[in-house]
Amino acid sequence: MAGKKIGILALQGAFIEHQQALTSCGAQALQIRTARELEQVDGLIIPGGESTTIGKLMQTYQLDTAIRSKFEQGMAIWGTCAGMILLAREIVGMDQPRLELMNIAVVRNGFGRQVDSFETELEVEKIGRVNGVFIRAPYAERVWGGAKVMASYDGKIVMAEDDRLLVTAFHPELTQNNCIHEYFLEKVSD
Ligand code: GLN
Repeated sequence: MAGKKIGILALQGAFIEHQQALTSCGAQALQIRTARELEQVDGLIIPGGESTTIGKLMQTYQLDTAIRSKFEQGMAIWGTCAGMILLAREIVGMDQPRLELMNIAVVRNGFGRQVDSFETELEVEKIGRVNGVFIRAPYAERVWGGAKVMASYDGKIVMAEDDRLLVTAFHPELTQNNCIHEYFLEKVSD
């Protein structure tokens, strides 16, 4: 795994924690703020945060077009929480600047206000049990095409993949378990 260069989109949100998790998996983790910095990486994590803010900043710095073209060239992308929203082809009842790369329809803030944040155990396909930390999380109500569900909670899809794309509604970077980071690294070719 050593030698894989992974970027973490560092415009806003929880990027430091992803950087630490990747480093402890033995990957090189770089904070990305410009299209030029993106050039060097084989994989990209879009962190949690505020998806409207990250989406607007991505456009301002022309990172949206740069990310789409790197993806076409083979880059793997993992979106956590806000990152999941930014990757979705569809946002139910809303529209906002995003990448629209993955065949999922997401519901923003889908777990409601009463349960803003919570932690629960999840059973993840191919990986096993993990602790899911949810913070004003979205969920996917549908996936289609090549997209496959990897975990659900309360009947709601909270993790999915489609080849080089991975999304989690929860925050693995806020736990001590790096198994989902390891899983993402397997999708990244160096
Ligand atoms: N609720 C946020 C949004 O819609 C996502 C929250 C998160 O990333 N922790 O952008």
